[in-house]
Amino acid sequence: MLDETFTPHGKHLIAGEWVSGGGTFSSAPVAGSAHEFSNGTPELIDRAAKAAEEAFWSYGYSTREQRAAFLDAIADEIEARGDKITAIGTAESGLPEGRLNGERGRTTGQLRMFARHIRDGAYLDRRHDEALPDREPAPRPDLKMVQRPIGPVAVFGASNFPLAFSTAGGDTASALAAGCPVVCKGHDAHPGTAEIVAEAIHAAIQSCGMPAGTFSLVQGGSLDVGKALVQHPLIKAVGFTGSLKGGRALYDLCAQREEPIPFFGELGSVNPMFLLPEATKARGAEIGKSWAGSLTIGAGQFCTNPGIAIVLDSEADAFVDAATAALKESGAQTMLTEGIASAYQSGQSRIASTDGVRELLATDCGQRSASPYLYETTGKAWLGNETLGEEVFGPLGLAVRVADVDEMEAVAKSMRGQLTCTLHMDDGDKDTGQRLMPVLERKAGRILANGFPTGVEVSDAMVHGGPYPASTNFGHTSVGTMAIRRFLRPVCYQNMPDALLPGDLAE
Ligand code: NAP
Repeated sequence: MLDETFTPHGKHLIAGEWVSGGGTFSSAPVAGSAHEFSNGTPELIDRAAKAAEEAFWSYGYSTREQRAAFLDAIADEIEARGDKITAIGTAESGLPEGRLNGERGRTTGQLRMFARHIRDGAYLDRRHDEALPDREPAPRPDLKMVQRPIGPVAVFGASNFPLAFSTAGGDTASALAAGCPVVCKGHDAHPGTAEIVAEAIHAAIQSCGMPAGTFSLVQGGSLDVGKALVQHPLIKAVGFTGSLKGGRALYDLCAQREEPIPFFGELGSVNPMFLLPEATKARGAEIGKSWAGSLTIGAGQFCTNPGIAIVLDSEADAFVDAATAALKESGAQTMLTEGIASAYQSGQSRIASTDGVRELLATDCGQRSASPYLYETTGKAWLGNETLGEEVFGPLGLAVRVADVDEMEAVAKSMRGQLTCTLHMDDGDKDTGQRLMPVLERKAGRILANGFPTGVEVSDAMVHGGPYPASTNFGHTSVGTMAIRRFLRPVCYQNMPDALLPGDLAE
């Protein structure tokens, strides 16, 4: 039984103080009482950004060990509030208790992973070209290079990961690890969860003696808050997970600034799966059943949800029948917000009314719940209508029945940028796999064989990003240790006396 005693006070955390301001909005939990939260305002963003800049002058020059201890302390503080976080997180998001507990473990795991990563120091990519004073025709100076933190970073809490991609999630953890203070804009879908996690970060700031402006949380309330955040001249980069529409609007604002800044947006994808002929023949039904499981996990509210399956028409029946049967068994699930449930319904109507699309399974959805839908179409219809490749956020699948491997390759080439692409293949499919591979490498940040893309490992080799619109910066990842690179920039020191070098180079 959870200890559910956390009652949010509804305030923003600005530079170590809990403050109100800007009117209020109500949370919309699926269980328990709603609470009032102060709206964010551009003025609060300004205060938080100025405090972050002030904090940077010491936090940005803290030692790696100090920051690692701070990240570990945040993880400890989150664990100390474990049941309360799960209780408010499940009430606000509608996600089950097991998922919130797992996501909390992932969040603290990420914080501790970044602590280990910066203690190790390899991420600094230190380089040294020794001076060659006698080199002809010109001497070479002594050159040293190291990665330095960029300054205050803005983070947008994601609706679909109230913990692992929100207040103390991967963007915040990687920015703090790099040495960058964070101004976080909370998501209206889970303001109480944001508040209790901010409380944990605040406690760690105090116990570790970090400057108060190292972390601020400004709750949402209106689009003005997000706009003010990305446009603030003291903000040097943005971490974002959300919709293509919202992400693109914020990306454009970043590009239009007098000093443009990088916007690291993870905007989702349809994560196509290509079923190669031999694998489909041998185990089409098994793949179809597992696809249904991956499609419906978390009510399909994952950026890695595999919404599209491309399969040879001649081999497709067993796969499609098994997926239909398994999806029929899957009931309705609560969605993160009414807005997301309504967007799911609109997306489903769009697919259902597209020429050449046939319905295989349709169900009834409630005001804030989603049931699975399954459709099929032909390769020809897909190639004639690019809107079929737009993400429907929720448990909806579309099987694309292609005439042959040539058409499968044409469908692969028609795909927009993706977070993931998957090949289901057996030994006899190697030639087809080799043919598709160069196409898929140009499309996705992660390519899987015989698996499902939901479930993103947090590790050194993970890439959670990809060509636009999967992300706005294809050279980066928002999951795994490489995420820290987004908040660093290389600085070269020429003939610099040791006394003036940053501590990381002087070692
Ligand atoms: P969202 O609408 O993109 O919002 C994300 C954050 O950006 C929110 O804090 C939002 O502020 C802010 N924002 C959005 N547009 C803005 C603008 N023009 N100016 C300033 N701030 C802006 O995403 P969401 O609320 O999480 O979910 C909506 C849809 O996004 C879903 O139905 C789904 O299609 C998609 N989504 C995709 C993924 C993915 O990983 N692929 C994840 C989550 C959501 P406000 O809250 O104040 O509006």
